[in-house]
Formats: sequence, C-alpha cells, structure tokens
Amino acid sequence: MVATSDNVLDSTTPTGMMLAYVMSICAEWERVMASQRSADMRAKARREGRYVGGQLAYGYRAVRQPDRSFLVEADPEQAKVVRAMIAWRLDGWSIGRIRRELNDRQVPTPRGGGFWQQNSVNRILTSPTLLGYTMHQGRVVCGEDGMPVQFAEPLATDEEYKALLTMADESKKTEFYGNRPKKPVTETYLLKDLARCGNCGERLYRYSRTRPGNRPDEPIYRCAKHRKNCDKVPEILLPKLERVVIEAVMGDLDDTEVFAKEFVPANDVADRLVKINRAIDQHRGDRAAGVWDGDDERFRQIMTRLIDERKRLEALPQTQAHWRNVPTGTTYGQRWAEADLEGRRELLALAGVELVVCANENVPAPNWWKEAGPNRAQAKIHSRLVYLRWAIDSV
Ligand SMILES: [Zn+2]
Repeated sequence: MVATSDNVLDSTTPTGMMLAYVMSICAEWERVMASQRSADMRAKARREGRYVGGQLAYGYRAVRQPDRSFLVEADPEQAKVVRAMIAWRLDGWSIGRIRRELNDRQVPTPRGGGFWQQNSVNRILTSPTLLGYTMHQGRVVCGEDGMPVQFAEPLATDEEYKALLTMADESKKTEFYGNRPKKPVTETYLLKDLARCGNCGERLYRYSRTRPGNRPDEPIYRCAKHRKNCDKVPEILLPKLERVVIEAVMGDLDDTEVFAKEFVPANDVADRLVKINRAIDQHRGDRAAGVWDGDDERFRQIMTRLIDERKRLEALPQTQAHWRNVPTGTTYGQRWAEADLEGRRELLALAGVELVVCANENVPAPNWWKEAGPNRAQAKIHSRLVYLRWAIDSV
C-alpha cells in the first residue's frame, strides 16, 4: 500500500490528492480481485460437485457434514412428494390435476405453505434437478469434463425424465398454464376437451340451460365465447350430441382391441447421446449469451472432448426412446360397458375422437373434413352441423 512517511495523507496538496486517488483505485482493485477469487473458488467447488450455497430445488436439502462442508441430499418429505408427482404425471395426469391433488392433500408448497400453482408443478416436473443435478444462474452445473455434475441421488430415472419432457412438449399444445379461464362447470362430461366450436375454434363446455315455466333445466354444449367475440355460438342439446358420437364411434370400434401407450426407454448409447447433446447445447448457449463459466481454452477443450465422445457414440447401434402401442386384451365395447363417465371420456380420447359443431350451413366445415379419411361421420341436429372423426381403425 502507498503511505506517506508520517502515515498522514494531506489531501489538500497535489501529491496528497494523487496518492489518495491511487489508494482508492488500489482498494477497489483488491476488492474486485478478492471477489473474483472467491467466485472462482466457488465455481471450482461447484464443478467438483461441492455445494457452495444458494437455493436448492424442491426435493433436496443441504446437510452439514462433520468437516463443516455441506452435502446435498434428497429431502425425505419433499422427495416423497416429487416421486408421487412423477408417478401421477406418468399415469397421464394433467398438471392441473396434480396441482388440485396437492392442494386437496394440503401438501406444503416449495415456499412452505399457501397454494400450489400450475407453474410450480410444471417447473418441478421438467427441471433437470430431478436427475440430481444442481442449477447455477438457471443452468445445470457441469464438471471439468463438461457433463452435468451429480450432486445428489436422482429423484427420477433418465427414462422417467425423458417421458416427463416428452409429455411437457405434448401438453404445451393442449394444456393451459397460468391463468386458465374459469370454466362454467367443473364436473366432467363425456365430450370434455373433445368438442370444439366451428366458428371460434374454442372448446365446447357443458352448461345448463334454464327453460321458462317450471320445466327442468336442460344440459347443453356451447362454446365459452358467447359473451366475447363468437357471434355464432352453436348451442346443442347434450344428449343428442353425445348420442351421435357414441353411435358413430362405439358402433365402429365395439369389437376393436384397445391398445395402451407404453414408454420404451432409449438404450445406453442413445441415452448417453441425449445427455451429451444436452450438455453441448448448454455450453454453446451459455457462451453465446456471454455467461459461460471459464476461458476460451477451457471451452475449446470441453467441446472437443464432448464432440469426440459424440462421434464415438454415434458410430454405435442405438434405440431411441419412443412410445409403443401394446395390446390390452380388451375391446372398446368391453371397456365402454365397464367404465364410468370419466373412463368413457378417456376411452373416446384414446380413440382420437375430435368433433366440431357448427351453428348452421353458413359456418364452414373444419379443414380436416375436406381431407379423405375412413373414420368420420357427419350429423345434423336441428340446424347444427356436427363433423366427427376418430383416429383408430376398426378391425
Ligand atoms: Zn364459438
């Protein structure tokens, strides 16, 4: 450090002013270097799989060791919740249904209370931390070899995690996250999520239409946009519409065997390739975003290593993860006879049923109606036109 001979700095003289300025710069430099050193040390510790503080993902906790370091491990209570969530999701539950279940069971949220939201359920079920990795600034922490560091035991297997991501991709098309518009009624109905309005394209919901006098209410299907911008709301009597669908679809598929979807995991080679590609993408993305942790030389080394390994693996035989149809030994007719309302709705969904209801002839038929296809039907109920198709071929 710079000091005058009597250790007193006279900042009124030019020399004193210069020295004070230099000292302030030195102090700043020391501070920056110290924080850089400790950031480097933390980054190195992270790369070696040591926990250096920060928020852990739901399902994990940090435990103090005798040598005063911390170890990350599955939190017994939270891990149980996460595993249940994974099992439900892989059983085909929607994010919304999982959220309701957690709230019904009064499971504490990640923040320790309150009310589960769709987004937090979705985040937990798609986070790479399910594999026992940790995140730093939104990214998976990687080791010197460029691959994710295993901090703790995984809560999901690789196959499960891949299935969860596949489901998340698929459900983006059909499920809402965040503020879902309020539905008129909450109980299930046969054509829930299967029927759409030919005018606005929105789903048809079940409503109760009141009738004058003391005649009982009658159930109808109708799109929810009646108060907004749909000017040709196709109200249609529920029993009549359902009868059309049941007669057409179940009449066709009665003796057809039901096939269930089964997830077939990738083999080790494909599995390792997925992981390597994921790591390569992360490093490239981080570097492009200017947040990569390390210098050019380290980046080059890591990428060379990863790409060499990818080449080696690509030369080996591999099986990709995929869904397979497995026979169940029962027919649509048998299932239908045994199922309750929700089961019947699921059966129609499994058959790939889709239908569009148009208010009258002036509303054009859906685009798919113009394509040729065997599994379809059309019906006219009063002035309403119903266009129906299903994906499964009968035997
Ligand atoms: Zn509409």
